This record gives sequence, C-alpha cells and structure tokens, in this order.
Amino acid sequence: MHATSAAQFASSTTRIAPDLEQVRDDVWALGMPMPGGHIPYSLLYLLRDSADGIHVIDPGWDSKSNLQRVLRALASLGAAATDIRSITATHLHPDHIGMGPRLKQASGAPLQVHATEKEALYARGVGGWSPSVFSHVLDDWGVPANRRAEIEAILSATPPHPDVHVDRVLANNERLDIPGFDLVAMLTPGHTPGHLSLRDDARSIMFTGDHLLPTMHAGLGLGGPTNTNALTDYLDSLDTVSVYPDHEALPGHGYRFSGLAKRAGKSARHHLKRSREVAEVVADSPDSTIWQIAERLTWTAGWNRLEGFFLFSALSQTAIHRDFVAADGLARIAAHHR
Ligand SMILES: [Zn+2]
Repeated sequence: MHATSAAQFASSTTRIAPDLEQVRDDVWALGMPMPGGHIPYSLLYLLRDSADGIHVIDPGWDSKSNLQRVLRALASLGAAATDIRSITATHLHPDHIGMGPRLKQASGAPLQVHATEKEALYARGVGGWSPSVFSHVLDDWGVPANRRAEIEAILSATPPHPDVHVDRVLANNERLDIPGFDLVAMLTPGHTPGHLSLRDDARSIMFTGDHLLPTMHAGLGLGGPTNTNALTDYLDSLDTVSVYPDHEALPGHGYRFSGLAKRAGKSARHHLKRSREVAEVVADSPDSTIWQIAERLTWTAGWNRLEGFFLFSALSQTAIHRDFVAADGLARIAAHHR
C-alpha cells in the first residue's frame, strides 16, 4: 500500500482535515472535520459530470461549518449548491451520511444509499437494537449482573442515527446516473450490512468508504443486528474489491492509496488473527460465554478498562468471531494461510 496523495498523507499525521484536492480531471476530495478526536476527519468526494452537474459522495459530519466548507469548495470549482445532482452515502454512519439532509436542503438533490442501509437508518436506536432484544443478547453473552447497567445505558445515551430521509436506494452492481461516469455500486457488507463501495473502471478509482481504510482496519457489524456473520460478509467483500487491484482507493478516512488488494489482504489477516485467538480460547474452554472469552483476549485499552459503549463493542466483536469460528471460520483461516 502506498499513499497517492502527499497532502492527505500529511493530514493523517497532523490530524487536520485536508483541503480540496483534485484526484482526476473531474473528481475532487475534501477533508471534513469530525468531533470527538478519535478520528479527525472523513473524506468527501465531488464529481463533476459531463453536463457540469455535481455529485457528492459521503457528505460527512453534519454541522453548519461543514456545510460552509463544502460551499466554499464548490465555489472554488465555479459551482454552487444548486448544481448538486445527487448525494450518495457509502453507509449509514453519521460521519458519512450526517450532512446529507442539510446538503439536500441546500441543493434539492436526492440522497441515495443501499436498501439495507435505508432499513437500518429507519429502524433507529443503536443500529436498530430494541431494548428487549438487547437485554436478551446481554443474557446470551453472559454479562455479569453488576456490569449490565452501564451497557444498557448506551441504548438511551447514544444518539440515534441522524433523521435522514432516503430518496433513492441503490442495488448491488447498479450503475449510478452520472453522465460521463461509469460509476458502479458494489455491495460490500461487513462494516455495516448495506455498505457500498463505488468503482469507476475508466478512471481506475474506487470509493471504499469504511470498508477499506489505510490507517486502521474496519470495525465489523456496526450497522445493527443481521442474520449473517459480519466477518464472513467482510471477508467476502474484501474479495469483491480485490478483483480490482490496480484501482486507486479513495477511502472514507485517512488518505488515498494504491495497492488496494494488498491492503485487503492485510485487513483479512488482521481479523483472522483475532479469530484464531478466539478459537484457542474456545478450544480450551468450549462452554465459555462471550464475556468469558472476551476477558481472556488481549485488548489495546486493557480488558479491565473497557466500559460502557467500548465494553459493548468489545463483546459484540468477540461474538462475531466466536460465531465465525463455530461456523466455517477455521476452514477459512486455514485457506488464507495456504
Ligand atoms: Zn463507518
């Protein structure tokens, strides 16, 4: 993997959102600041079609100042909000879709996501968890009584997904209506169940959202409960994007890069290493609950320091790996190391 933009690469270390940068003749990237400090910015993309219409990919975090930032960027291209013809979000997280409604209001352009993402957005709550289902899950995971309250509290404490009205849904392999572009939506579930990556073969670019990132590995199963295993989905989705190893990756955070397939391989190994760790604990103590497995794993922050949402996230990731290992995970781990 190599950074293909020195400016964006520098931004990933200074943690200051990068300025508008031209990526192709008719494609630009703009860093969008995010609150919280954990991840400093997302990357918004502007496409100019052959009829001078503007198309936005991943509007970014919702704020008045971020809207002004986009309007200034448009002005520098000789365009305005009213030139926006479509707004597409790779997935439902507020650092990607958040400013969608505000941008829609300013432009009148339709907002589009994959159908699964629309469903999850409309389900609201913490990725669609209802309190009764949530309580059942915590029972299932073997969460001790004295730790339940802090996890249950995240249901009410975590702000719901932004109040987003989706105008159009995109299907897997659908070609977006952008004159002069050949942009194809690829369903790449794993990070969220309806995550899209978008590729344009003529320009040899792929918008990878949070599916494939240069500075971190995508978290899994962060779009609400599903019937499929997020890791199985994620590995399949890495294969999906690896069919295009020479496309330049235009990710949702960090910096654009080449070596997309190599990065995908590294992300697979990162997650499978965790699966092996979980498999070892399960082999040693087959009756362990999710809680008992998780407390035997290594955590960057230290198991005893995980609280509230981070504790929930740790348990949820552990459950994904345990279920993966219990299904066909061991065979997939072996296949990956052949
Ligand atoms: Zn995300």
